[in-house]
Amino acid sequence: MDVGATEKSLEMMRKFSEQYARGSGTYFCMDKSVTAVVIQGLAEHKDELGSPLCPCRHYDDKEAEVAQGFWNCPCVPMRERKECHCMLFLTYVLFCFVLFCFVLFFALARIRREVALGDETRLTTLLFLYRLRRDDNDFAGDEQTISMDELVELTEDM
Ligand code: SF4
Repeated sequence: MDVGATEKSLEMMRKFSEQYARGSGTYFCMDKSVTAVVIQGLAEHKDELGSPLCPCRHYDDKEAEVAQGFWNCPCVPMRERKECHCMLFLTYVLFCFVLFCFVLFFALARIRREVALGDETRLTTLLFLYRLRRDDNDFAGDEQTISMDELVELTEDM
């Protein structure tokens, strides 16, 4: 295997990424090669520095950055605001909010029996919500998993 990181670190960072995506309610990029390259970068830093320093930034002194901890994955922006500039973890925050409002609206309407919407209206609303979900982050896919085979294949020529 020639992917610039040891298999042990690759597997460790692959598992970490899957678990963290599930735990944080985020998704991998629809282009899995982005996911694979970032995981590879994290694994290389894990081998080189002993810590998964964010691979998408330039550092004058990597050891000092590791000691500081801000950009060790998951970095502070990710932990505090779910912001991953590497596009490893992507969110659907707006979608969840609108979906919550949608469910609340229909629940209240049903309780009060004041609103009777037809199937067509419901379908239009759902399509609108689906579009919002995509617009929230155009790059977010639907998956929170990546296999070791995918990881190796997608980073083979890099
Ligand atoms: Fe990890 Fe943060 Fe880099 Fe995303 S931006 S890969 S969460 S360190």
